[in-house]
Formats: sequence, structure tokens, C-alpha cells
Amino acid sequence: MSDTLCGYVAIVGRPNVGKSTLLNHLLGQKLCITSRKPQTTRHTLLGIKTQDDVQIICVDTPGIHTNQDKAINRVMNRSASSVIADVDVIIFMLDRCEWSEADEYVAKQLNNVSVPVLVVINKVDMMNQTDDLLPHIEFLKGKVTAEQFLPVSALRRICINEIEEKIKSYLPSQPHLFPRDQITDRSERFLAAELVREKITRQLGAELPYQITVEIEEFRVEKTITHISALIVVEREGQKKILIGSKGARLKKIGEQARADMESLFDTKVMLRTWVKVRSGWSDDERALRSLGYMDE
Ligand code: GDP
Ligand code: MG
Repeated sequence: MSDTLCGYVAIVGRPNVGKSTLLNHLLGQKLCITSRKPQTTRHTLLGIKTQDDVQIICVDTPGIHTNQDKAINRVMNRSASSVIADVDVIIFMLDRCEWSEADEYVAKQLNNVSVPVLVVINKVDMMNQTDDLLPHIEFLKGKVTAEQFLPVSALRRICINEIEEKIKSYLPSQPHLFPRDQITDRSERFLAAELVREKITRQLGAELPYQITVEIEEFRVEKTITHISALIVVEREGQKKILIGSKGARLKKIGEQARADMESLFDTKVMLRTWVKVRSGWSDDERALRSLGYMDE
């Protein structure tokens, strides 16, 4: 027995329900990337929060995808289902009273694990009336075995503390696994790439599919300035043109926004260089995925 609590929490749910938003609020820090476009979160990311005697280690899963055709989706599914069996508590997130095939798919995965599940019904701030909630919870009880059903708003921070308290009640009594000041297991390189990718998705919205990747080719701290070079890899020549924009205006904007976020996250001045390269068909090529760091051996 230890007098400290420490354990893992997985936040699962189909894309766009608000998992990353909740994670950011739980951690009190902008760590992962949110966007209106689904599939923004491709990697599993650990976010760590230590407060007094409690250490919560959050796993943001990359969504569980129903489209199995593309290699990238297979990889994403694998990493999502392997994390959930291995945590102390699972948060299953839903968007209001919506129930889709994708939600059903996630629910099915949960029925095979013995970890306690909290169902979080998110975005209640967007519901005009809450009359539907109770009948919907009754419906959900038939779909998933859960400890509790919590209506919340991750964005407006409604009932976020309740989630946190509930999480704590499932954490095992054990020494902390990470140092008190560590907030993520990811490198600054990784976070830099995610920030560039977020700005691209924000700028392009529906114009660009998610088959885009960002590689950080240089991350060099020199006195008070961090020099970062980001290579953006797209699938087609046309996407490259869109991304760069007229006279490079779009790429410039992406770079400026990403740099501002990097400066506040890394707390240093940043010199960011960005460029775009076409690598065709990579999303269907597992070898390319591996070389880009999407496959864990
Ligand atoms: P993820 O794909 O599950 O990680 O979802 P994100 O956290 O990226 O959120 C998807 C979109 O939903 C973003 O535009 C968020 O701002 C929005 N969102 C998340 N939580 C809430 C909420 O409680 N209320 C409202 N109105 N929007 C939310
Ligand atoms: Mg996300």
C-alpha cells in the first residue's frame, strides 16, 4: 500500500465527440489538438497531471474507426483497442443523445474489457432541452455496462470536476510513475508536429483529407531561440498547391499560427521553417507508415 494514488485513464469515443477537449481541461493545459474535423488525433498521447498525492495519466486514443480499408485506419484501430484493456478506468464519450454505428462499434469493444466505464454525455451546452437525457440514459444502459452516466460539457467546463473526482475513486494506491513536473510522454518534436498539423486542418477544413503528415526535420535549441523545420507531406500535387496558397500566403499563415503556439508551449522564441512535399499514396502503404512513425513494433 502507498499513500499516493496513480493510474491510467483512457478516453474513448468516435471522432469529434470532444475527447481532446476534455483531456485538455482535465490536464489544465493545451496538450492535444482539437478541431472540427474528425481524425485530428492520430497518435495515442499520454497526458499526465500530478496534484498533491494524485497522479492521473490520461491516454487520448485516436478514435476507433469503422472504415478498415486504409492501412492508416488499421493502425489507428490497433492502438486504440490495445490501450483500453490496460487502464484503470475508461471514459466513453458521446455527443449529446446521438447514437451512431460508430458509437455502437466503440460500445462493443468496451463490452470485452473488465475495466470500469464512465459514460460521459458531452456537449450538453448545445442541447435546447434536456428532457431527452433520462430516456437516452435508459437506452444506453442496454448498450454498455457503466458505473455511471454523466452529462457534461467539456468545452464549457460543466461537471468536469465530477469526472475528475470519479476518476480518482478508481485509481490504485501506488507510487507515482512519472516525476511531478512531467506533463506528457511525448517529445517536443512530436508536439511541434501536432501543432503544425492542427493549423493545417484549421486552415483547410474540408478542402484537404486527413492524409497529411508533418515531420520535424530539425529541432535545435540555440541560446534563446529554438530552430524548428517542419516538412509537410501530402499525397498529391494539387494538395500541395492548396496548402501553399496564392503567393505562399496560406502556408505563411499556418507557419505563423503554429509558431505562436510553439512559443507559448515551449516557453522560448521559435524560428519555424515549413515546406511541402508530395509523397503519393503513403496512406495505403504500411511501410511508409512505419517509416513515418505511425507503427509501433
Ligand atoms: P475528438 O475528436 O473526440 O478529440 O474531439 P475534439 O475534442 O477535437 O472536439 C471536436 C469539436 O467539438 C471541437 O470543435 C470542439 O470545440 C467541440 N466540442 C468539444 N466539447 C464540446 C462541448 O462540450 N460543447 C460544444 N458545444 N462543443 C464541444
Ligand atoms: Mg481528438
